[in-house]
Amino acid sequence: SGVEKYAVVTGANKGIGLETVRQIASKGVTVVLTARDEKRGTDATSMLHNTGLTNVVFHQLDVLDPVSIESLAKFIKDRFGRLDILVNNAGASGVVVDEERLKALNIDPETWLSGKAVNMVQQLSPSGARIVNVSSLRGELCRIRGDDLRNELEDLETLNEEKLDSILKRFLKDLKENTLESGGWSLMLPAYSISKATLNAYTRVLAKRHPGMLINCVHPGYVNTDINWHTGPMPVEEGARGPVKCALLPDGGPSGCYFDQTEVASF
Ligand code: NDP
Repeated sequence: SGVEKYAVVTGANKGIGLETVRQIASKGVTVVLTARDEKRGTDATSMLHNTGLTNVVFHQLDVLDPVSIESLAKFIKDRFGRLDILVNNAGASGVVVDEERLKALNIDPETWLSGKAVNMVQQLSPSGARIVNVSSLRGELCRIRGDDLRNELEDLETLNEEKLDSILKRFLKDLKENTLESGGWSLMLPAYSISKATLNAYTRVLAKRHPGMLINCVHPGYVNTDINWHTGPMPVEEGARGPVKCALLPDGGPSGCYFDQTEVASF
């Protein structure tokens, strides 16, 4: 249709986020490229402008800062009056783990990926929006060692924000007390893994609650970016394909699904 579309991508100054902006903007969608650092964000935006993608605008967003989130929400409301696509891409490697960093892994309900953001999308885009949570294969259920924990994360009947919050609190406690092994957590990149596992579970909770939207999560592939010190073999052009596909799903497309790159896969 000829209706103009608006998108937001978080953590978009580099890596998969930046490439996702480029590919979505290339389809004619107006994209708000967001970054926590003003300079890195405006540099990335200028770079895209120089390639002719003038439908990209910059706005600052630190996904951990509620004031910054409010400011972006106001900007979108005033400037566009609607939001059709939200790509939650910002993330950190989580090799070093503490409470602050765990929040940066997208799991704190007070942050950008909260019901607050979803409510905003719903208000601004009553016709139904696409929400894409950039996840990782590290969050797949088969990688969770504890049966109880795995069952908890896939029991859609009982899953909600409080439940996810309590799981994460339990993780932090086990982390502090050095009992990750007996707690059933993944021992490889434990914080990163549980952040993505809960992100996947939250995606399902939200999709169930908002049947008018297409809300999915996606493993982009093992992509050559800073997050893995460029050990990933896949170029960002390819890694962004899954997130872009989920962002541009046609009406009636899948929701509450996990994509392994561009294909629906099992959680
Ligand atoms: P990069 O390190 O290249 O990009 C991460 C982005 O997130 C950067 O723009 C970074 O900003 C931003 N970011 C971190 N914290 C915040 C914050 N608090 N607020 C706003 N932005 C923030 O890594 P990738 O492009 O690889 O990662 C993108 C997503 O893909 C992540 O969610 C990651 O977990 C996921 N992923 C990546 C894989 C890979 O192989 N590359 C595999 C599986 C999943 P800044 O520059 O300021 O640090």
